[in-house]
Amino acid sequence: MKNNKKFETNSVRAGSIRSDQGEHSEALYLTSSFVFKNAKEAAARFANSEVGNIYSRFTNPSVKMFEDRLASLEGAEQCVATSTGMSAILASVMSLCNTGDHIVVSKSVFGTTVKLFDNILKKWGLDVTYVSLTNLNEWQNAVKKNTKLFFVETPSNPLTEICDISVLADLAHRSNSLLIVDNCFCTPAHQLPLQFGADVIIHSATKYLDGQGRCLGGAVLGKREHMNHVANFLRSAGTSMSPFNAWIFFKGLETLKLRMDAHSAKAMELATWLEEREKVSEVYYPGLSSHPQHELAMKQQSAGGGIVSFKVDGDKIDAWNLIDSTNLISITANLGDTRSTITHPASTTHSRLSQQERDSSGIADSLIRIAVGLEDIDDIKADLSAL
Ligand SMILES: *Cc1c(COP(=O)(O)O)cnc(C)c1O
Repeated sequence: MKNNKKFETNSVRAGSIRSDQGEHSEALYLTSSFVFKNAKEAAARFANSEVGNIYSRFTNPSVKMFEDRLASLEGAEQCVATSTGMSAILASVMSLCNTGDHIVVSKSVFGTTVKLFDNILKKWGLDVTYVSLTNLNEWQNAVKKNTKLFFVETPSNPLTEICDISVLADLAHRSNSLLIVDNCFCTPAHQLPLQFGADVIIHSATKYLDGQGRCLGGAVLGKREHMNHVANFLRSAGTSMSPFNAWIFFKGLETLKLRMDAHSAKAMELATWLEEREKVSEVYYPGLSSHPQHELAMKQQSAGGGIVSFKVDGDKIDAWNLIDSTNLISITANLGDTRSTITHPASTTHSRLSQQERDSSGIADSLIRIAVGLEDIDDIKADLSAL
């Protein structure tokens, strides 16, 4: 769905289908199946000799509008919408790999992604190696003859480490592999991984694409030759996106750039303020010049994003006390909402790791993550006045 329009125009215009009723705001096609003019048309649709809707597990106009709009924003040939972010990951790995294939995965990916690989896909013969997101030697050394995929999130959660997408894409291609980037944190408003050579993009639409914490959904994007496999997988596996959710996400995309710019600007302000607090020992935010990969981040991202992590001076009790001292910010592990959220990674999102694994990956007991929402930054700072 490449076109020559600018991002903000595509956000509000791309993918739009207007019915013969002439509605200006796009209609919600809340239907499970579609009728045919006659038996011949039904046969042609099933034989794939005529393009058209059959059943909403396969295609639906509201879902297609979301897919085409998101594809235009990511600069992808095709997008396939899925029921959740996890089913986007499941669908891409299941359709791009076979039993016995090997994938190399960054250690710092979403917790459930690790569970999906370790508890489910390994059982079906997938070979998985975890490496450090930022250590290229580890990626190089992990490659085997049967390696098919590299899988990363950048920036990482919660320490906002950055990988050089173009360098990793080159290595993947030299190893006959594809690079998958989970672009959930930056969204296409701030990072376009395909432009840096990535092959496949994953989204949890549940986060910033919705942006208002209402629906679960996901997406896989990339070349048509790869997305055909993903679409076929979904048709049979059944983890398709619901038309209602697609309509919510489609509308969410209209304000994506505005929201992401605001999340980032507020996060930058919060990160700068946190750096000056005496009770804060370290701040992790790619927009800060003190971030060890600030230059790389600014090369491949147009802003720092909405996630800020920091260490309080002290231990777990001090971190918990700070979290409990807030009144406005929601205590929840979710992110990508209009409302700011605060979480203690070591005892929630990263509690599955052993103490030793947490120590080696920098998930300290004193670490706190804030996903900055759209409240006034002065009120967010005031809510952290214990610092
Ligand atoms: C939330 C999340 C997912 C999973 O998405 P769901 O919609 O909850 O299934 C995957 N990757 C990242 C980076 C996430 O934050």
